Amino acid sequence: MTGVADGESVSLEDLRKKMVEFAKERDWEKYHSPRNLLLALVGEVGELSEIFQWKGEVPKGLPDWKEEEKEHLGEELSDVLLYLIQLSHYCGIDLGKAALRKVHLNAIKHPVNLYRGSSEEKSNDINDNINININSETV
Ligand SMILES: [Mg+2]
Repeated sequence: MTGVADGESVSLEDLRKKMVEFAKERDWEKYHSPRNLLLALVGEVGELSEIFQWKGEVPKGLPDWKEEEKEHLGEELSDVLLYLIQLSHYCGIDLGKAALRKVHLNAIKHPVNLYRGSSEEKSNDINDNINININSETV
């Protein structure tokens, strides 16, 4: 049904192309302004949140969840990802490259030697300078 064998990876570019084709076939590109896509994305984040609403903390791997609940979760996670990919596409952002860059910036901002095992904000000259540089960029 998905056209992807078990264990085969799917790239962001594969998904981006599929979504562009999906919209083109339905003549939906006219509705895909950045604003509309952002609002659709936020709506899907709400649907994703509803799945966890009132459950309290849940253990990693969701061992007590039914298969139908996990399937529903996968659908809502996918909705969020697909709108995020489309929003990035129509904004001219290469999401994969932007995400890799952000991971790199986060690694600089939170060096292992200072942050291993701790999420508390650290203050030192290096981080203060990095914060200033990151915050002044248009990312
Ligand atoms: Mg949904």
